[in-house]
Amino acid sequence: MDLTSGDDDIAMRDGDVIASTEPHNLFSQSLANLSPKSNFDDAFLTDTQPGEEKRSEPVLKGEGLKREASVFEYTLTKDKPAPRPAKFAPLPYASSQTGLVYDVRMRFHVEPEQSEDDIHPEDPRRIHAIFESFADAGLAWKQGSLEPSNDFYMGRIDTRVVLKQEVCLVHTEEHWNWVQNLVRIPDDELAEHQQHPGHRMDSVYLSRQTPFCAALSAGGAIEACRAVMLGKVKNVFAVIRPPGHHAEREDAKGFCFFDNVSIATKVCQREFGEQCRKVLILDWDVHHGNGIQQANYDDPNVLYISLHVHERGRFYPELSYRDRRPPYGDHVHCGEGAGLGKNVNVPWSRKGMGDADYIYAFQQVVMPIAHEFKPDLVIIAAGFDAAEGDMLGGCKVTPAGYAHMTHMLMSLAEGRLAVCLEGGYNLDSIARSATAVARTMMGEPPERLVNTNPTLSAVNDVKTVLRQQSRFWSSLYPKDMSAKLAGPLHGVRMHEVVRRWQAETLWEEYEMIPLAVLHQPLSQPFKNQVLATPNYTSARPLVVILHDPPEVIASPDPVTGKIELHNTWLTDIVKTYVDWAVKQGFAVIDVNLLKHVTDMDDGQQHEPNDATDFRTKEATLLLSYLWDNYVELSDSSHVFLMGTNTGHGAIINFIKANEDRAKDRITSAISFVEDVPLQSCKSATNDMLASWYYTKSLVFVANDHNFWHSDISKKPKKRFGRASQSDVDSITDMLMAHKKTVQDLILQRTADWSDDAGNEEEDGDAMDTSNFEELSGTPKLKLPPVGNFAPSPRGSAAPSSGLAPGSAAPARLSRHSSPTKTPPVGNFAPPKQGASRSPFR
Ligand SMILES: [Zn+2]
Repeated sequence: MDLTSGDDDIAMRDGDVIASTEPHNLFSQSLANLSPKSNFDDAFLTDTQPGEEKRSEPVLKGEGLKREASVFEYTLTKDKPAPRPAKFAPLPYASSQTGLVYDVRMRFHVEPEQSEDDIHPEDPRRIHAIFESFADAGLAWKQGSLEPSNDFYMGRIDTRVVLKQEVCLVHTEEHWNWVQNLVRIPDDELAEHQQHPGHRMDSVYLSRQTPFCAALSAGGAIEACRAVMLGKVKNVFAVIRPPGHHAEREDAKGFCFFDNVSIATKVCQREFGEQCRKVLILDWDVHHGNGIQQANYDDPNVLYISLHVHERGRFYPELSYRDRRPPYGDHVHCGEGAGLGKNVNVPWSRKGMGDADYIYAFQQVVMPIAHEFKPDLVIIAAGFDAAEGDMLGGCKVTPAGYAHMTHMLMSLAEGRLAVCLEGGYNLDSIARSATAVARTMMGEPPERLVNTNPTLSAVNDVKTVLRQQSRFWSSLYPKDMSAKLAGPLHGVRMHEVVRRWQAETLWEEYEMIPLAVLHQPLSQPFKNQVLATPNYTSARPLVVILHDPPEVIASPDPVTGKIELHNTWLTDIVKTYVDWAVKQGFAVIDVNLLKHVTDMDDGQQHEPNDATDFRTKEATLLLSYLWDNYVELSDSSHVFLMGTNTGHGAIINFIKANEDRAKDRITSAISFVEDVPLQSCKSATNDMLASWYYTKSLVFVANDHNFWHSDISKKPKKRFGRASQSDVDSITDMLMAHKKTVQDLILQRTADWSDDAGNEEEDGDAMDTSNFEELSGTPKLKLPPVGNFAPSPRGSAAPSSGLAPGSAAPARLSRHSSPTKTPPVGNFAPPKQGASRSPFR
């Protein structure tokens, strides 16, 4: 049977609304001998026997009938006019059909060597499953049906093979030739065949029918879009395969050969001119459509918007490019040249996205941009692999979710919408999803959404895109400020301002001074972040607090995105611990663990927090440095290490790496754990370490921390320390809730010291800084000590003034010489040049 000639074609032609436009049949020769699978025809049989009644007429019964009658009577009372007759012919859009492109011959592209246990996900049955589902739902007519075909069904549109000149609008001639040549390669060589010598085919199987199927698929996409542009149908669903959005200019890739959607776009732009100048391609396939992005990257008239799992560059197709280009589907790839701003990637940083996440992205980013773009035609690159149940996507979009996205897109371009199938590998999921999309296109309202709360991860991803795209789209707010900040404004990051303020306050109140951290790579990130009371070297309890930065809560201006200082609050609960410890006469070293370390060449962009692992590693290095250079050299009677989040990780890492030294000096290790893993303190060589840690530790773990949902928590081991589940969740709340417990523990463990300490004079080791006046030249000002960066005590002789080793700088104004204590902050009389500078600059 010649499958490509008119009447014998098993592709159904009944219900056609457009005659085939197939201009040439390039493949009839090569396919003349091809026989279809014999069970194709079985698929079209139905269970219903001829003559059997399929549906009974609806009958009104009981109350329903009465209500119907009374309504009727009411509307026809004599006082009111009878309903007016229709003045117009049926509305053209509402009454016109939704088109359907489907041709069973696209099933011929199959793996040459098939096995039943290992079915390739790009399974030829995909398109058949969708068509059958359309037919079962009563959306499409199929051969053998008892109902006659009529205008309520989707109108069938013939597909055709694509032309070389059409393909070459997107691909190179070499690519076209390579695909055509596949018909000549023997089956046993196809598995090893390569498009580019030295590069294995990337997720592509080849068969001798591939050229024909790929040509039908691209031709189908073209005819679908043409039918919409010609007004033959109001919108159209092209059930085509092989898919296209991964195919690049000269690369078949990711099950794709020709970039169907981009080819159709460019054909329509040429054929319809101004009528189809601007095309929106919305790609909701779970993978990034690298091919579509590449084909339209510099085209100002093609807006490509892709929502896809990205996993920060670890998800397909990233990392698999032949040219080894870095991740390409991230939010910063926005187009180039005239096309800058016409490429919108919404990259999910994790799998598992559902309806609410997609709807959120549509409402926040996709639809505002799409309306502003004002497309003449909308094409959906409709992969259904983000659907619930898909094995490759790992997401959970439901049919209702797809229906709502379709519904929103139907509001664009006066309804001119073409849906072209891309990926989607669970036959059941794609059939259900595609059917929900088709119903919506035909006019049925989408079903209700069950899940309407986006995940925090998705909100973060969408806001990141919004910030990026706000440069190009006037309807998006708030605007990205980075260009202004890096330019004339010279922005200073608030974490620097706040730490400076903290340092100055702690200097004012407790004469706390910055400790030098002279160690690469720590010195830059921890400049000004380590502050100590002047008595930290003496024989008294020393509390080392490694904490997260204080929290800032702000209510930004909804339009400008600006944060006004009067609508911003700083909460610094750690400070209350410092206050208390100083009052007890303890020494304190306060370490601020920044959430992001600014580069030297700061571009003033929005920066995410540094990764927890990285922050913990930095904190561990810093703690080891402080221990070696300050703690170990001090005479402190008891050392308390207290850490929040990454500070907790640093304490455990430090103890594990320095068992003996730690056990020697540490009185207690106190941790607050909110959003980092709970670390265990276990040594490979010393069984006793876990027991030791247990007796020395106090660990507060957030109420909803994963640890409490794990099996380990049911039988906690000593190596996790004395861990208790807090009633609250945030670090701030935990620090508030457990302050008394911590204080009691510290007092109890320092009972011996407080007895010894008796009435000891607190200022016993006050520093002699009498020469400060000459240095500063501003005797009325009480300034913080000079030189943040006094040398660390190790390897340096104690200063001749007799200062305790390590105290950072000798320049403290003596109390006697400072009659008025003026705060060091602000604009009042800055020190003259060459004079003492605040250490906090
Ligand atoms: Zn896909």
